[in-house]
Amino acid sequence: MANKWRHTHTHTLAHTLRLSCACVHINSQVEKFNLRFSYAIATRPFYGANKYVLNGAVFDEDHDEMVVVKDIEMFSMCEHHLVPFYGKVSIGYLPCNKILGLSKLARIVEIFSRRLQVQERLTKQIAVAVTQAVQPAGVAVVVEGVHMCMVMRGVQKINSKTVTSTMLGVFRDDPKTREEFLNLVNSK
Ligand SMILES: [Zn+2]
Repeated sequence: MANKWRHTHTHTLAHTLRLSCACVHINSQVEKFNLRFSYAIATRPFYGANKYVLNGAVFDEDHDEMVVVKDIEMFSMCEHHLVPFYGKVSIGYLPCNKILGLSKLARIVEIFSRRLQVQERLTKQIAVAVTQAVQPAGVAVVVEGVHMCMVMRGVQKINSKTVTSTMLGVFRDDPKTREEFLNLVNSK
């Protein structure tokens, strides 16, 4: 009886140990993954866009016509499903005596996309960053994204695209300005 108990007990103990070892192993792997993952996607992690990259790229300029940079490539990571989403971003703004170096618009997209994100927030953050950088009369941002969480899993919609937009200032208030921007963005 005692032997049987000992046998069962040690057997169970060994099993438990094996299990917890496996858990420890998995946890350290997950930790390493987390670290790699953070480095991989957050090339410029969590710096405010303006302070970090935009200094020196804001110019005084007597220009009050719309500036549009469209089809900026974007790669990001869905924070709900931990799978990528990617697509393109178009940004327009109406300057108010200040313009931003054109490549900085792409840089802003990069900063806010290289982290765990949702497309809705990404769209808004880009618009707010441009607003803070040059205080324009208005900013418009349109993001078109393909979400691997929709393609790979669940509904498996391969060709669907998600479009989000943020319109601030004159782009929100003035339908003509908004239309001009959308025409420029949608023209091939
Ligand atoms: Zn997702």
